[in-house]
Amino acid sequence: MAKNQAPPATQAKDIVVDLLVIGSGTGMAAALTANELGLSTLIVEKTQYVGGSTARSGGAFWMPANPILAKAGAGDTVERAKTYVRSVVGDTAPAQRGEAFVDNGAATVDMLYRTTPMKFFWAKEYSDYHPELPGGSAAGRTCECLPFDASVLGAERGRLRPGLMEAGLPMPVTGADYKWMNLMVKKPSKAFPRIIRRLAQGVYGKYVLKREYIAGGQALAAGLFAGVVQAGIPVWTETSLVRLITEDGRVTGAVVVQDGREVTVTARRGVVLAAGGFDHNMEWRHKYQSERLGEHESLGAEGNTGEAIEAAQELGAGIGSMDQSWWFPAVASIKGRPPMVMLAERALPGSFIVDQTGRRFVNEATDYMSFGQRVLEREKAGDPAESMWFVFDQEYRNSYVFAGGIFPRQPLPQAFFDSGIAHKASSPVELARKVGLPEEAFAESFEKFNEAAAAGSDAEFGRGGSAYDRYYGDPTVSPNPNLRKLDTSALYAVKMTLSDLGTCGGVHASPPVCDRQYCGQRIRSHLPGRRCNDRPGAGLRIHCRSPRSRESSFDSAVDPLGNRSPNGRSARVSDAGNVHWSPVRLVGAMPPVCPISVTLTRQVTKTRYRLQK
Ligand SMILES: Cc1cc2nc3c(=O)[nH]c(=O)nc-3n(C[C@H](O)[C@H](O)[C@H](O)COP(=O)(O)OP(=O)(O)OC[C@H]3O[C@@H](n4cnc5c(N)ncnc54)[C@H](O)[C@@H]3O)c2cc1C
Repeated sequence: MAKNQAPPATQAKDIVVDLLVIGSGTGMAAALTANELGLSTLIVEKTQYVGGSTARSGGAFWMPANPILAKAGAGDTVERAKTYVRSVVGDTAPAQRGEAFVDNGAATVDMLYRTTPMKFFWAKEYSDYHPELPGGSAAGRTCECLPFDASVLGAERGRLRPGLMEAGLPMPVTGADYKWMNLMVKKPSKAFPRIIRRLAQGVYGKYVLKREYIAGGQALAAGLFAGVVQAGIPVWTETSLVRLITEDGRVTGAVVVQDGREVTVTARRGVVLAAGGFDHNMEWRHKYQSERLGEHESLGAEGNTGEAIEAAQELGAGIGSMDQSWWFPAVASIKGRPPMVMLAERALPGSFIVDQTGRRFVNEATDYMSFGQRVLEREKAGDPAESMWFVFDQEYRNSYVFAGGIFPRQPLPQAFFDSGIAHKASSPVELARKVGLPEEAFAESFEKFNEAAAAGSDAEFGRGGSAYDRYYGDPTVSPNPNLRKLDTSALYAVKMTLSDLGTCGGVHASPPVCDRQYCGQRIRSHLPGRRCNDRPGAGLRIHCRSPRSRESSFDSAVDPLGNRSPNGRSARVSDAGNVHWSPVRLVGAMPPVCPISVTLTRQVTKTRYRLQK
């Protein structure tokens, strides 16, 4: 089977299983958990590929106090991590959620070690997003998969969703590698050993060992999939959830459709909704988020259009945090193609960002979520960043990788200029004129930025003030690795867009006041939660308490993930079968770095908790 050439879907038929999982991203972890408990499990996936956004992602997961960190001597503790999560999340979500997340990370990693062939490592020094807060860590708590041999998938290899940026070379590049490879011109002593090692691994693996090493989210999804294949858990691709089936107020299965034919899956122990967000449902995105969002702007997997959220709503579930995504500033798209990823670019010296007024408006090096929220805050305040331009000089272009794949010294593609997303000039005024920015204002911003860069201190926006900013900076530039004066010999402006890695919002699982009851756990229909007025760490969105949520403080019982039972008793929803909401969509305490850790932890722990009952 050729790489990523999906075989025909297994034919769907009426079937009875213990657990039905909708969605094959982190949902695979729920399936593995159920399988460990001896339950029959089926995964249903709408698209022809397995892996969802998880397979497109960087695959980095922020998992405090886990065995990977312990083995690497990171010195993290559960208490320290809880302090950090508390300081990031504040009182905008029930504290139990953050605590449960931290408490269960280690068990999640252990489960993945038992049920999949994956191996992980600590991405040391990938700082927490807010290392300066109590409990924060500049050394970080982010982990990644070691390059994974996808050939273990055998005939199933073709069903793995392709990555966002498929490398032309057989070369598995982890996020930690990327940081240094990006600095190949400035720090060759750090970059080239990694380049050689990964190239050797990829080439030797491919041609001598007949292995196919992949990294990042590809490795994570392939590793989960390998566990699923090994466990004999069927995955019906090209099969989509239509509706949930209930009996006596209990969810007992689902109707799914394949090739226009509906079949019934009876699920004795429950249904896990792990069908991602509504990344590509533009009607919802305009309704809940912003009218300015354009089609094709999300980097999330194309199958994520919110049907599972809708199916839960039809049963009376409430929704929350629908206004937020994992915002991700990127290079603007050309001709309907996805936007181009910007990972380290914003943090590197010799560059800055302006809006249509020609002025800076943000610490460019901040984490992507805070950046996006800043843009939307302005929009809500009636002062939108209608366009964003990334400005840099020739030295910048000669020094770093750009837009994920344009190497140092390589000219920007002509298509950038032809489509109007790039301009080149030899003075700030000329650049402003070409882009269509107010010339005087832009020239002023340019000068002001250069003054700040010369002083090594950005008094206006604090760029370089945090260990997080500096992680992706250039260590050869001092005193501030994020700041350098721009030279005017050749200047560039490239258009940016506010892309995203997927939406955050979804179904509320533990509402305070309930009007419908399912199997001991009640779910309530209500409007999306109001906007949180605080700023969580990592820019990640935390659970917005609905106006009624304070009433829930009377509840005492919580499950391991902090979901309260509305009646104060532990929610025993699984014995007779129920719906388990897609974990990330529970919008509980969000980690200070990455959604994958929340999805994985919730999939594993919540599924186990429910199913063991
Ligand atoms: C480019 C990129 C980089 C990222 N990097 C990171 C990172 O480094 N760290 C991190 O933590 N997060 C990262 N993310 C975000 C992260 O990947 C996602 O938040 C996470 O993987 C979502 O997991 P999920 O299981 O909820 O959804 P997904 O992995 O998207 O899986 C959902 C699946 O459900 C399927 N589905 C949808 N509707 C139906 C239906 N009706 N019936 C059946 N199936 C359905 C979809 O087709 C999809 O396959 C990144 C995302 C992107 C796009």
